[in-house]
Order: sequence, then structure tokens, then C-alpha cells
Amino acid sequence: MHDKASAQNMESQNIERPFTRVIHKLQDAGLRPTRQRMALAKSLLEGPSRHVTAESLHREMHQANINISLATIYNCLHQFTDAGLLREVVVDSRRTYFDTNISEHHHYFMVAEGRLEDVPDGVINIDMLPDVPPGKVFSRVEVIIHVSDDS
Ligand SMILES: [Zn+2]
Repeated sequence: MHDKASAQNMESQNIERPFTRVIHKLQDAGLRPTRQRMALAKSLLEGPSRHVTAESLHREMHQANINISLATIYNCLHQFTDAGLLREVVVDSRRTYFDTNISEHHHYFMVAEGRLEDVPDGVINIDMLPDVPPGKVFSRVEVIIHVSDDS
């Protein structure tokens, strides 16, 4: 009898499980798990790492019949970044990507496709850097290698 009750209890937990992890991730990051944040966190923080733009994520949400405005997506992406859940990669003034891989790494930027790809770890060797300007401290070095089609 007791076992049956606990089995039923586990079943109801299983139903909730799809969102349990993202709720915890949001809460641990100090963000209230609103419906929109949960939908975006589910898409971004689970599964393989990837690079998105606000626009690409907006299209993706629209295709999944999840209605979130582009402005809200922008806000959430910046909130996630400030909370350390995403990493912002600014390619130029018109192109900002959000990386779900928050470890330090470098990128290829495929100019024609407007797409970022991770450079494998350990293949870029930076052995000379200038001193930082007075009053500044070293933060990080990120390399973005712009590549075009060979034709
Ligand atoms: Zn990356």
C-alpha cells in the first residue's frame, strides 16, 4: 500500500519533471520563473550547446506556437546573460549572438551564413598580449575568426 502510494507520487513528479530543472536553474540564477522565461530556458539551457540571436529564437518560438514578443526575448536573453546562464558574443554592432556554452572559447564566424561555430579547445595559442591600459585589469580574450566561402 505504501509502495503504491509512493509510486503514484513519483508518477506525478514525472509529469512535472520537464520544467523542474529549468525552474531550478532560473531560481538559482535569481530569476523568477515566469512562463516566458521558462519557455526560453527550456529551449536554451537543455540539449546541446548552440548560438542564437533574438530573431532566430523569436522565429523558433513562433514555429513552436509559443507567443513571446521579440522585445521580451531581447530582455530575457540579456537577463540570462547578466545572470551567467548565457554568454553574449558581439560580432559587430549589428550582430549579437547568445551562446549557451558559457565556458571560455573562441569562434568561427561564417560571414555568408551569419552563423557562429565553436573553435575546438586548445587549437588557438595566444602567447603575446599587450599590457592592459593603466587603471584597467585583464578580463578575457575572445577570438572571432571571420571566414568566407572559398569560391
Ligand atoms: Zn560558442
